[in-house]
Amino acid sequence: MIEISHVDKWYGPSFQALKDCSTGVARGEVVVVCGPSGSGKSTLIKCVNALEPFQSGEIIVDGIKVNDPRTDLPKLRARVGMVFQHFELFPHLRIIDNLCLAQEKVLGRSHDEAVAKASKLLDRVGLKEQARKYPAELSGGQQQRVAIARALAMDPIAMLFDEPTSALDPEMISEVLDVMVDLAREGMTMMVVTHEMGFASKVAHRVIFMDQGEIVEDALKIDFFGSPRSDRAQKFLSGIL
Ligand code: ATP
Ligand code: MG
Repeated sequence: MIEISHVDKWYGPSFQALKDCSTGVARGEVVVVCGPSGSGKSTLIKCVNALEPFQSGEIIVDGIKVNDPRTDLPKLRARVGMVFQHFELFPHLRIIDNLCLAQEKVLGRSHDEAVAKASKLLDRVGLKEQARKYPAELSGGQQQRVAIARALAMDPIAMLFDEPTSALDPEMISEVLDVMVDLAREGMTMMVVTHEMGFASKVAHRVIFMDQGEIVEDALKIDFFGSPRSDRAQKFLSGIL
């Protein structure tokens, strides 16, 4: 579903943020990406939906080559949902309208169709009652669940998450992780940057560990937690577990 081959990315002329990164996510697979701050995790997943350009290598998402100038990027981004650390909802729009906007503008759904889809998804993430509110009237955990529902409203073929719980107060983390766990169990293809190893051990199939722009480990979950090969991953794990 997502194939990443030999990707190199530089920010500016001299700083290489990704070094020969190759990995992939199969249909229905959940891959957790972890590693120290600055190791390139966000950069890697931003390259997947073309939020960041890269200089060499190739990324193919569902048969579409991301780094091909002919690729319709808005269409690609609509098909790959992305959820960030900061919820990035449209502050001036009610929750329901946050969920409808791109459905209507990008997918061309009618307003009624978009509202029906949005209501179903808000119900699913436990926020049906909040539909008429504005983002600022919701807690962080609620806003992040709205962000997930908004991405799902586009019927994505895969979902990318970049530390979706790291800006949340501890008591709100589990309400967001629960939604993600359900999604994983339903078979959504997911690439998730997170340090929530409880989530990883519950639903990840594979774990990727990055350091200084390199994919240092790419292992089945059981192998990663059992015995990470590299010293760097071992050190990282002993620091966060
Ligand atoms: P964190 O855990 O802190 O989110 P990360 O693993 O997601 O870190 P990235 O944000 O991908 O790391 O950054 C990788 C490296 O690239 C870092 O050294 C960072 O300073 C650098 N970098 C990121 N974005 C830019 C940018 N827009 N311009 C220049 N350098 C950048
Ligand atoms: Mg990051």
